[in-house]
Amino acid sequence: MTIEIQPLRILQDNYTFLLIDNSNNQAAIIDPGSAGPVIDALKSKNMPLSHILLTHHHYDHSGGVKELKQLYPQAKVAIHQADAGRLKDACDLKLSEGDLIDFGTASIKVLHLPCHTRGHVAFQIEESLFTGDTLFNAGCGKFFEGTATEMLKNLQRLKTLPKTTQIYCGHEYTVENLEHAFQADPSNTMLNERFHQAKVAQAQSSTLVPSLLAIELATNQFLRLDDITLQKQLKTDNELDTLIALYWIFYRETPAR
Ligand code: ZN
Ligand code: FE
Repeated sequence: MTIEIQPLRILQDNYTFLLIDNSNNQAAIIDPGSAGPVIDALKSKNMPLSHILLTHHHYDHSGGVKELKQLYPQAKVAIHQADAGRLKDACDLKLSEGDLIDFGTASIKVLHLPCHTRGHVAFQIEESLFTGDTLFNAGCGKFFEGTATEMLKNLQRLKTLPKTTQIYCGHEYTVENLEHAFQADPSNTMLNERFHQAKVAQAQSSTLVPSLLAIELATNQFLRLDDITLQKQLKTDNELDTLIALYWIFYRETPAR
């Protein structure tokens, strides 16, 4: 791994991620919902900022852009073209599925995962994936601008990535998500251990990222929609209906099919 990743906890429960390429002495930030902690981190490393990467346009992921851009005018703001018009700030790179962004010695791949917003993307860099508000630890983001069918496609796609992929999500919701997961399938004993680890981490307010795709595949029900036991608990017999039933348990809403 040539890129160092530093998660920063910001706002109420957001994560922002500093990417550092020591060999080229440059840094990038993913989803700076506020600028202060990012600026402090950059100053302590005495590093310039080359990219501001946004998984989607929501303010809790982009609220720090303006201030960062003032301090680092050379930093390129990148967001998917479908979300670019809704960003309050100007953007320099309008992204599409499959784009590769050069960052030092690495290249960052753009995966378009529309549903939370039309232009939601994940960023893949080396063995790490930044999932924004699409996939959380043990959960999944809200379907604000898409259907359950679209999210199912996204989830099925994420399942095909290498199991060793480190998952960096946009919010710290692990404990709440696991509580919902217990409700969905009380028979799943695998959830227990994760729940207790998360409680301890929460009490120490330490970060619970990254997770590992292998761990999500074992304990994130949104990646287990074909699980027969889960389907039995939810009285469903296919992945789409299971997703819709699970969404109800997590969010008390029925999403568009
Ligand atoms: Zn969001
Ligand atoms: Fe968010």
